[in-house]
Amino acid sequence: MARESGRTTAREQIVATSDSEVDVVIVGGGFAGVTAARELSARGRRAVLVEARDRLGGRTYTKDHDGHPMEFGGTWVHPLQPHVWSEVDRYAVETETFPVLEGLRQAVFSEGRVVDLSDDDLERALEAFGEFCAPGMTLFPEPFLETVSSDPDGLGGRSLREQLDAFKAEPALRDWVEGMCCLVAFGPLDRSGATEIFRCYALAGYSAEQAMAALSATKLVKGTRELINSIAGQATLADIRLNSPVRRVVQSDGGVQVELESGETVTAPTALIALPMNVLNSVEFEPGLSEIKRTASADRHAGAGMKCFVRVKGDVGNVSIVAPEAQAVNFVVTYAHGPEGTWLIVFSANPDKLQMSRFDDVQGMQTALQPLLPGVEVESIVGWDWSNDPLALGTWCIYRPGQLAKVLPDLRTTEGRLFFAGADSSSTWRGFIDGAIESGYRSARDIDNYLT
Ligand SMILES: Cc1cc2nc3c(=O)[nH]c(=O)nc-3n(C[C@H](O)[C@H](O)[C@H](O)COP(=O)(O)OP(=O)(O)OC[C@H]3O[C@@H](n4cnc5c(N)ncnc54)[C@H](O)[C@@H]3O)c2cc1C
Repeated sequence: MARESGRTTAREQIVATSDSEVDVVIVGGGFAGVTAARELSARGRRAVLVEARDRLGGRTYTKDHDGHPMEFGGTWVHPLQPHVWSEVDRYAVETETFPVLEGLRQAVFSEGRVVDLSDDDLERALEAFGEFCAPGMTLFPEPFLETVSSDPDGLGGRSLREQLDAFKAEPALRDWVEGMCCLVAFGPLDRSGATEIFRCYALAGYSAEQAMAALSATKLVKGTRELINSIAGQATLADIRLNSPVRRVVQSDGGVQVELESGETVTAPTALIALPMNVLNSVEFEPGLSEIKRTASADRHAGAGMKCFVRVKGDVGNVSIVAPEAQAVNFVVTYAHGPEGTWLIVFSANPDKLQMSRFDDVQGMQTALQPLLPGVEVESIVGWDWSNDPLALGTWCIYRPGQLAKVLPDLRTTEGRLFFAGADSSSTWRGFIDGAIESGYRSARDIDNYLT
């Protein structure tokens, strides 16, 4: 189980760092690293997992606030995501529909006003979304098997903005589709690859409705914290060390030496690097990583949005409002409401448009929310600034135009004794908790085979 501090007793340190005892050092304690630790334990392999933060979970983070378990990072899961769903089932983790559908007011901001959507309108919006995503049928004919198919139309190099500019539909439906693109990309649309939305659609059985459900319909009642702790609890042969940032990884013929910022080193025959793509370059590797890995990390993926929980005065009801990219807020959904106040979850794909001086700038948020919820009065804001968090440097992974073909195969490729895992290099539900878990299964299998 996880230890609260990176400090160990001398005896523990000798046991944990002895070459003969440890099979693999895992760098990073998000879902990828923790799943790999459990899978390696199941195969009789000993691991030391080193995590820089004082908690597991990485870009998932359940924080109790105002009596609610709030998800500052990854939230939604779905049965169409096979790896995470098998874990939910395995540990009997309780799920719930979110947003709550009863009494839900659904709307889109279009042509300067909020347009309420009837069930018929929503059906037409989903049809429009299906049309928009249709290239996914030819680009990803076998989404669970292939990484990249042939791409005669050059779709891999197209941005979501270019794809939207060529898409025709009546204004409210088009704006709804654009709002969905903002939600999937969670970064500027001209920097986000169109392939990423096509892939979600393909993985959801080429169904716009199922894609929507996979993206935002089901969450864990007690939070993602419960799931990652369940997985970590079965990593019985892993020594999980929190507060243990890694600064350098050195490979030699004899093994891998992982140096922590504390000065401590851990050695083993192999290491699993389970870091976000955007922070790979913040660790020094000797010899250096492949040029593709280094360039991908320097260029970063496009996910750089802001998600936060916003407390507003009074009961604004159960709402779900989508807005196109020109708006500072692209999605607002009620988390909890009552006469004493409402907690909203707010998503902005382009936080620069929020014109907030700080992450918790109440006045800036109030201004940004007015077009969607006129008259709303903001009281407080909580959340996590992932893009400025040096251990994440971004939100979920959305490849830039062209990155899919250029970086994906290499990001997963073993380099000597170094193996790689993470949601950012999953070939299926990339950027999702599911992709992180999938990569944990794969890398543990590969390491076990290598060591056998
Ligand atoms: C705001 C937001 C909303 C999201 N919503 C959803 C959602 O609804 N559904 C969904 O499926 N996914 C969602 N995601 C994405 C999902 O959370 C991630 O894709 C997934 O959790 C990534 O897991 P990982 O293990 O690959 O990486 P991470 O979780 O990033 O884990 C990497 C770990 O490495 C650690 N680390 C970094 N540098 C060092 C170092 N030098 N030394 C030691 N450790 C280090 C980090 O602290 C971190 O714990 C969301 C993400 C964000 C940010």
